[in-house]
Amino acid sequence: MDAIQENIAWLNSPVQYVKGVGPYLGKLLERLGVATFEDLLYHLPFRYLDRRSIASIVKTLPGKQRVLYGQVDAVGEVILGRRGRRVFEVIVTDGEGYLTVKWFHYPRKFFQERFKKGEKFLFFGEVSLYRGEKQMLHPEVTPVKEFFEEEDFQKHLGLVPVYSTTEGLHQRQIRKALDFLMEGLEGRLAETLPEALRRKWGFPGQAESFSRIHRPLDEDSPEVWTALRSPFHRRLVFEEFFYLQLGLAFRRQRAQVLTGIAHEAKFRFQEVLRNKLPFALTEGQERAILEITRDMCSPRPMNRLLQGDVGSGKTLVCLFAALLSAENGRQAAIMAPTEILADQHFKNFSRLLQGMGIPVRLLTASTKGKERQEILELLQGGEPAIVVGTHALLEEDVAFERLSLVVIDEQHRFGVRQRMVLMKKSEQPDVLVMTATPIPRSLAMTLYGDLDLSLITELPPGRVPILTRIMYEKDRPKLYDFVREKVKTGQQAYFVFPLIEESEKLDLKDATKAYEKLREIFNEFKVEMLHGRMKNQQKEEVMGRFSRNETQILVSTTVIEVGIDVPNATLMVIEHAERFGLSQLHQLRGRVGRGGQKSYCILATDFKQSDLAKERLKVMEASSDGFKIAEEDLKIRGPGDFLGTRQSGLPDFRVGNLVSDLDLLEAARESARELLEKDPQLALEENRMIRPILLHRWKGRLSLAQVG
Ligand code: ADP
Ligand code: MG
Repeated sequence: MDAIQENIAWLNSPVQYVKGVGPYLGKLLERLGVATFEDLLYHLPFRYLDRRSIASIVKTLPGKQRVLYGQVDAVGEVILGRRGRRVFEVIVTDGEGYLTVKWFHYPRKFFQERFKKGEKFLFFGEVSLYRGEKQMLHPEVTPVKEFFEEEDFQKHLGLVPVYSTTEGLHQRQIRKALDFLMEGLEGRLAETLPEALRRKWGFPGQAESFSRIHRPLDEDSPEVWTALRSPFHRRLVFEEFFYLQLGLAFRRQRAQVLTGIAHEAKFRFQEVLRNKLPFALTEGQERAILEITRDMCSPRPMNRLLQGDVGSGKTLVCLFAALLSAENGRQAAIMAPTEILADQHFKNFSRLLQGMGIPVRLLTASTKGKERQEILELLQGGEPAIVVGTHALLEEDVAFERLSLVVIDEQHRFGVRQRMVLMKKSEQPDVLVMTATPIPRSLAMTLYGDLDLSLITELPPGRVPILTRIMYEKDRPKLYDFVREKVKTGQQAYFVFPLIEESEKLDLKDATKAYEKLREIFNEFKVEMLHGRMKNQQKEEVMGRFSRNETQILVSTTVIEVGIDVPNATLMVIEHAERFGLSQLHQLRGRVGRGGQKSYCILATDFKQSDLAKERLKVMEASSDGFKIAEEDLKIRGPGDFLGTRQSGLPDFRVGNLVSDLDLLEAARESARELLEKDPQLALEENRMIRPILLHRWKGRLSLAQVG
């Protein structure tokens, strides 16, 4: 075994084999997610106690955490009050001042043995005043056996790390385990970052970083260390990001050497469509189409993420891509997360492509029998075609003969695996994933570091900004008046209710009740309800009536969140707005403001909410920039919640933070790509150690079979 393999084996050792840990403490540590030596090293202190110097009793102000030195002057038990509460008191002096140290609970025998007149101790704790005297309650105590020698104190002083722990596991047990683990760490741990890279960014070594984080020196700043911003922390963060980015870069590189389909830009159908559109494409759309066209015409498979705010017109962009595929006599598959959305795309495409002779088909779970059979035969027959669908496209018997383009709409609604299943239905098709949840750059880089990125940053012209207001319960009558007034002028409104999975039935009952009430209140209009439990055909009918303005008010659960386009709807009332994530609110809000009319989004909520919830909703009032909102959301909720970790395949970071360490993420990405460009096989001597570490780091996180 070479050094690195040996290292990895050592890091993988179960934590119970750390000296002094054993099976019992090992179990407790496992509860903290610390299962191996490596986990323990990464179990970083979340704050530090400042015990660097001994304070003078006289000069210490009450309310401060201090280390005080004292020689016992008097000891005794005091009985307090009528109930006879016992207090153990020790009066100590440092030669200038006096301090009374008190315990309300104590092992009497042990204490009487321990605190004898003349004995010396260090006391750690908060100094307070009691009847004009300085006191410390229940301090931590360290005996000072020898006479006043500088080194004796120094042993006990310094920045003391504080670890997150669990019941039954003491700070000092964690500290001790780490002391043992870190003994001789410098010789034990081989460096994991290539020398050149470390020099370039000025990063300290790995072993040094661990020691310095777990056992800071006196000159180190407890604030900087607690904020995880020391050079040693930053090195570990960089390293964590670097290996993630390297894995992604590796995957990207592998994809580039694959041979895919080289389309040929004939501008036949594309031009026809362009001339048919009643508006000009935005600059962002044009750029995206160009980038996609370039990718599709190159022999390597396209792997592109199209990001654009709600309403930025991504659908058209993907239609242009689909036409390029059709022009080349090939097939395109477009997968959307809901039937309503798939159906909308289907109708849209059919209308726009009328007379071009390209078959457009819709394949969802409701497509059955002969109709489904016809579609399967069409696709297997190899004729050019565009098929729009839902998860139903993933079914095993859906096979393509000449599939050259796969589009995933609202990518964040699908898992990585689902994307893969669709891609596997052809040899190296071009892949375009689209998302209207503007994913903050840091997340996009982590999740999709292996994808190329197209961005549409502007909305089509003529959009009137949406006015967003938080509304409290007391103003509800006013809200109803407002809605009534607008609907009377021919506009339409959404009322949206949250549906949260665990309590789905209950929420649905709530929403249904509210619907009955709204129907009474607005009895002069037609009010209908839409929710996820309805049969598809029913849903479609309801949507259809709403889009034809036969229904004026649509009461809905979040099924309308994704992609629905009814330009005449100008009012969106979101009930219990505090229950939604910001990005979700932004998505919902994007359902209005699609025509040229002034649109409104009302966030209804009641008073009993936390400041945090209020702050969040205020972000919605203040901003209509999806990216900004997403950044805020990420800050507030953390990356796991933001996307739903299970689905997204987002790795958990041990030290890195996607929000505050963005600079390091970028540096890591740049370094990873550079390294692979110079040494695509990781064959250079100085990079030889990278591959095993990469495999080790990626184990159990993202599938990275290609690296092996
Ligand atoms: P999203 O990016 O959210 O999927 P859509 O593709 O649904 O947005 O587009 C929203 C609306 O904007 C649609 O009604 C579409 O027809 C319209 N649209 C798209 N591009 C343009 C444009 N360049 N100018 C005007 N309207 C456009
Ligand atoms: Mg869309």
